[in-house]
Amino acid sequence: MSRFWSPSIQSLVPYTPGEQPQVEGLIKLNTNENPYPPAPAVRDVLDQFDTSRLRLYPDPESALLKQSLAHTHGLNTNQVFIGNGSDEVLALTFMALLRQDKPLLLPETTYSFYNVYIDLYGIEARHIELTDDFRIDLSQYQQPNGGIIFANPNAPTGISVPLSEIRALLESNTDSVVVVDEAYVDFGAESATALIDQYPNLLVTQTFSKSRSLAGLRIGCAFGHADLIEALERVKNSFNSYPLDMLAQAVAVASLEDENYFRSRLDQVIATREWTNQQLQTLGFEVLPSHTNFVFASHPNVSGAELMAYLRENKILVRHFTKPRIENHLRITIGTDDEMQTLINYLQQHPKL
Ligand code: PMP
Repeated sequence: MSRFWSPSIQSLVPYTPGEQPQVEGLIKLNTNENPYPPAPAVRDVLDQFDTSRLRLYPDPESALLKQSLAHTHGLNTNQVFIGNGSDEVLALTFMALLRQDKPLLLPETTYSFYNVYIDLYGIEARHIELTDDFRIDLSQYQQPNGGIIFANPNAPTGISVPLSEIRALLESNTDSVVVVDEAYVDFGAESATALIDQYPNLLVTQTFSKSRSLAGLRIGCAFGHADLIEALERVKNSFNSYPLDMLAQAVAVASLEDENYFRSRLDQVIATREWTNQQLQTLGFEVLPSHTNFVFASHPNVSGAELMAYLRENKILVRHFTKPRIENHLRITIGTDDEMQTLINYLQQHPKL
């Protein structure tokens, strides 16, 4: 800490550097990356890429990618926004739409990144507890004029809310901006993009990092009414935020073209998730119903911290949170079948399981 720092950054804790050790030989199940490579079309684009083009700046509009995303979701291009990962899209959303002079509702347990912006901008936020079974109860979210943000499926619980409940939320909060963070939606939840044409206050964010295996290129997007998208564009352009780089734009378009590969890998991750869920339950874990590429589990006999340390000793990384109510849980990313089998083997050998 330095006397030169702004007071608003003094409480900030760097988010994931410790979760991304740059060493080989670990089974990395801690940051919800996809265990499979991106679509073969991605490799083809990179193989054929004319490197002389790299001397030019990228298309600031990401026009081809916007068209492709608009087409995929049945929207117009002015309803699509592109950013460097959905973290950047969320950051710009806080600047442009979740106003500092208006209150914000969000779950007590959700993606921790939202609170970073709440603190940074001094937003008046009300955190609503999850239900006893760790669900988001949207009927409790009533905000006459401000903002609402939540992840669906939620993180780190993995539980999703059905579209009908999001529709009801939008019906009863017509004067608030409702942001639905769908980072994990492709793994089995219902997307709210279907509601965009009916609700001008809905913004949906998504990412290529998880279901499309492209975390390394930082590609995120948002869908919403043209007015909301324009607000994001204004902020992005005013701050001269970076457009998506040229390779990321080309790769993202290619990844959207290979729907069969996409579906088959999703099916594989979902099948492995259900297998892992069963195995953990057999070992006595309580596992929340997941619509994501991770499971959230706790065991009555062993603490989450102890289990995380035990797995770490055996070169398996999983995520543990110290937050009350979830401090005994582990968030375990779904890897390949072999990786999950290794995880289960080590857990079976734990003396208290
Ligand atoms: N939202 C949620 C709920 C997440 O878990 C993550 C990944 N940490 C993100 C957004 C950001 O993902 P990215 O910036 O890679 O698109």
